[in-house]
Amino acid sequence: PTRIDPADLLAVGDLLTDEERLVRDTVRKFTEDRIRPHIGDWFERGVFPARELAPELGALGVLGMHLDGYGCAGSTAVAYGVACMELEAADSGLRSFVSVQGSLAMRSIHTFGSEEQKQRWLPGLAAGELIGCFALTEPDFGSDPANMRTRARRKGAGEGADWVLSGSKMWITNGSLSDVAVVWAQTEEGVRGFLVEPGMPGFTATDVHGKLSLRASVTSELAFDEVVLPADAVLPGVTGLRGPLSSLNEARFGILWGTVGAARDCYTAALDYAKSRVQFGRPIAGFQLTQQKLVEMMLEVEKAYLVALRIGRLKDEGAARPAHVSFGKLNNVRAALEIARSARTVLGANGITTEYPVLRHANNLESVLTYEGTSEIHTLVLGEAITGESAYH
Ligand code: FAD
Repeated sequence: PTRIDPADLLAVGDLLTDEERLVRDTVRKFTEDRIRPHIGDWFERGVFPARELAPELGALGVLGMHLDGYGCAGSTAVAYGVACMELEAADSGLRSFVSVQGSLAMRSIHTFGSEEQKQRWLPGLAAGELIGCFALTEPDFGSDPANMRTRARRKGAGEGADWVLSGSKMWITNGSLSDVAVVWAQTEEGVRGFLVEPGMPGFTATDVHGKLSLRASVTSELAFDEVVLPADAVLPGVTGLRGPLSSLNEARFGILWGTVGAARDCYTAALDYAKSRVQFGRPIAGFQLTQQKLVEMMLEVEKAYLVALRIGRLKDEGAARPAHVSFGKLNNVRAALEIARSARTVLGANGITTEYPVLRHANNLESVLTYEGTSEIHTLVLGEAITGESAYH
């Protein structure tokens, strides 16, 4: 008979292949050794030691993990998802770093870049020797990127002419750290992607401070004041919003897995705490109200895990549609946030500190609820998928 594991009561993990379980255990070990001992402190100080960690994440094989060639691991979608689950069990900031580097920056170059651009950037990004970011959101346009104001125009006539880029991007993860920024801008032909490097005259990156969420993650504003880019800085493979939106769909897939990890971490922290914390002469795990909270958390963690695995298998079959990914993103982030808040109550006052992960996860998940398509936007995507009516505007 199947063993009863309180952390995975339905034994969803048994549905993973040996290779996927190996990825899970390897990434979990890395986070236990390298992240967990420090994450509370990093969160409190608002730092993420990206330059130190990136080569280690590269060696672990999680940067651009699901891409082929150019030093990338070429793993299945589920193996990549499982890695995200373990990374986000440690912290959403860590998973965000990996998502932005692999699914947004590298994936855009891999899918839409020239052979020269791929050769130049992908091996270093996969190894974590280089850091990338992806800049779509602007101060005035988040959910509605089609109206973006950042513009690129040709400096002269013909395909060989330089480009001039002007505008600004906001809320850009890894922005000030990046060796290469994938910047989406409006052109005469439609939206196009540009590779922008630090040190180019007119390009500045300023970090966002005062965040109460994703504190162990660098978030920046990027400004472009008539930045001159060479003709070959444009990604040749795509014109239109389809470019950035398709990369975002890849990153969302990592999120719907990652949040299962954050949720599990909150649930198991609450379970452990409830078993050892004694009030009124008995462990609080023995009170019916606490058990109800723990059981609700457990049900939702397992359901989210099954949702992630179903979407992962669809993706590996080549059958996953954006609506499937919206289903997972909406359901799993929302479930994780509720679990984190409920876990916080079980830990009482201890729950508000960085010594335990629960409020850190809850606060992080507020960003995860908003970025990569807000919960409202995913509701509308799903509403359109089931009714055929678009309710955006
Ligand atoms: P808005 O679009 O202004 O939305 C505000 C509210 O209005 C939301 O509740 C929204 O759901 C609602 N709303 C908007 N339109 C509709 C509608 N049609 N119907 C119903 N409700 C609607 N962006 C990047 O490009 N790269 C990054 O690396 C990146 N990293 C991020 C990191 C963090 C920590 C955060 C917080 C954000 C990051 N973002 C990044 C930006 C993120 O993608 C945007 O915040 C997100 O798209 C939402 O945009 P907004 O914040 O401008 O909110």
